[in-house]
Amino acid sequence: MTTVAIIVAAGRGTRAGGDLPKQWQMLGGRCVAATAMQVFADHPGIDRLILVLHPDDMESARWPRIPVAEIVTGGATRRESVLAGLEAAAKTADRVLIHDAARPLVSATIIDRVLDALDTHAGAAPAVAVTDTLWHGQDDKVTGMQDRSGLYRAQTPQGFHLGPLLAAHRANRDDATDDVAVARAAGLDVAIVAGDEDNIKITTPGDIARATKLMGHQMDIRCGNGYDVHRFGPGDHVWLCGVQVPHDRSLQGHSDADVGMHAVTDAIYGALGMGDIGQHFPPSDPQWKGAASHIFLEHAVALAADHGYRISNADCTLVCETPKIGPHQGAMKSAMARIMGLTPDRISVKATTSERLGFTGRAEGIASIATVTLVKP
Ligand code: MG
Repeated sequence: MTTVAIIVAAGRGTRAGGDLPKQWQMLGGRCVAATAMQVFADHPGIDRLILVLHPDDMESARWPRIPVAEIVTGGATRRESVLAGLEAAAKTADRVLIHDAARPLVSATIIDRVLDALDTHAGAAPAVAVTDTLWHGQDDKVTGMQDRSGLYRAQTPQGFHLGPLLAAHRANRDDATDDVAVARAAGLDVAIVAGDEDNIKITTPGDIARATKLMGHQMDIRCGNGYDVHRFGPGDHVWLCGVQVPHDRSLQGHSDADVGMHAVTDAIYGALGMGDIGQHFPPSDPQWKGAASHIFLEHAVALAADHGYRISNADCTLVCETPKIGPHQGAMKSAMARIMGLTPDRISVKATTSERLGFTGRAEGIASIATVTLVKP
């Protein structure tokens, strides 16, 4: 008996806020879809995981940290997407569980109940009986009452024996809102099993906050700062935040003297409480002479990831009279973002002079300070 979980993540819904469809929004340290998928990946009764994606989402960068799954391209409607998943499952599956990726708090217990009910029914799905009084309303006024007896709020995963459901989907031309509707239209019997109030569907911005609360996340948030200075010497360019900027002098140092990148790197080490660049890359070690500073930054980023931290943002200020930083700011943000594996909107590079005061004011060198935030879900 092979049971396949099909996670349908092809929707375009952005009502939950942000630019991304709700299944790709972050919940704790991973996206909503990944959180849902992990429950199925960890369940001993599930043999295969299929993820149905919108054609615009096939780029893996859009679905961070998802468990291993077979990726299937969905269609323009929910019906087409589920059918694509079912066709992919048909090779090996006896039973399928179809789950909405926007329900990240599904539990192993609900999956157990659906699987158990499939031993005796063609289909089974979780639901919660309606307990609130139901009204009809119009123009913000109550216009009547609705008897709530026998009413349920449907949830997922909805489970079926594959053959009959696939036949039902192939024959169905209506865009049903769930698979129970398709199954019932084909005459299949569907058992109701107990759902869970926590198995919420992420729909509005408040739902992400509610789901986070239900997950009981205690995020570990850490801040670190970094400071660095390099002096000017002979040369015709400086390296600043990963960008080569033409200048009438160069910064002197053991490495490429990228003072901005060094400050950000030290801020990461600082947030981790794990020393500084000098400790990890001793200037006395000849192998780092003239080294490109991205080696240091990549090391710090990897160290953070090894310890379970994600970099939330980095803010770097360069202090100098010359060269002018403004024209290179965009390129610097992009370069830093690329090295750190972040989107540029999480990186800030800004510059200030020191009003001709002190060593930076006399243009003897460039100083940089940086702040970095790390988050562990
Ligand atoms: Mg330095």
